[in-house]
Amino acid sequence: MKCLVIYYKNGFMERENAKVDIEDRGYQFGDGIYEVVRVYNGKFFTLDEHLARFVRSATELHIKLPFTVEALTNLLEQLVEKNELINGYVYIQLTRGAADRIHNYADNLEPVLTMYSTVRERALSDIENGVDVYLHEDIRWLRCDIKSLNLLPNTLANTAAKNKGGHEAILHRGEIVTEASASNIFIVKNNELVTHPANNLILNGITRGKILQIAEDLKIPVKEEAFTIEELFAADEAFITNTGVEIGPINHVDDKAIGTGKPGPVTRKLQKAFEALLPS
Ligand code: PMP
Repeated sequence: MKCLVIYYKNGFMERENAKVDIEDRGYQFGDGIYEVVRVYNGKFFTLDEHLARFVRSATELHIKLPFTVEALTNLLEQLVEKNELINGYVYIQLTRGAADRIHNYADNLEPVLTMYSTVRERALSDIENGVDVYLHEDIRWLRCDIKSLNLLPNTLANTAAKNKGGHEAILHRGEIVTEASASNIFIVKNNELVTHPANNLILNGITRGKILQIAEDLKIPVKEEAFTIEELFAADEAFITNTGVEIGPINHVDDKAIGTGKPGPVTRKLQKAFEALLPS
């Protein structure tokens, strides 16, 4: 179902009434940032963490946030209420604003905030049955820690994977696996979790952070270290994490089975613990 009421620029309005300036730098340069936050049973999940990352992305790109985190939270609560959203997402985007189309930006632009919601149920089939993924060279820039609107390398990789019948593209820089086009990746080897460190080469996923917390609680050892494609193929289990799929067990990479080719016991344990955290 389409979101009825959105927030755009200075207030709530019907989606049809939003007029995007053709010289908005988000539109022309991808000059902006975003977040996607999950709503379960009418309640936000990990909203504070998402907004903290939003603030960080804005700060790194020198985009001024038009609201405090408290005010943003309040607007998001209003958005959910106005759309009577029970299960789905809110999308939050901030562009640097509109100006004559020149590459450099002035520091007095008025940033443009867009927020809307989408109805979506949990991806139970992917969670239960697992997903197949395909490798793709990571051709992104060197600030993947910023959740910027520049997603062309991600959309190209994701489309290539989807065209092969896969769910996700696993990105690698040479031999090193970084993350996926819209998710982080973990492998399990000898009951230990391994995932790429949260540096400039990956987006530090909020779901990834939750997995690290859960692993600590469950006393599952974690190594935040880069691993290779070879190690991925030799893993006992592997899974992707993001706001949408939560924890998606990986069955096959490039048509080759990982472990048994079915969701493994460590992945199942983490899924169970994650599910227990969801608002009821
Ligand atoms: N990496 C990339 C490139 C992503 O786009 C996403 C989705 N936002 C993630 C990882 C996972 O982040 P999160 O768990 O916060 O959704």
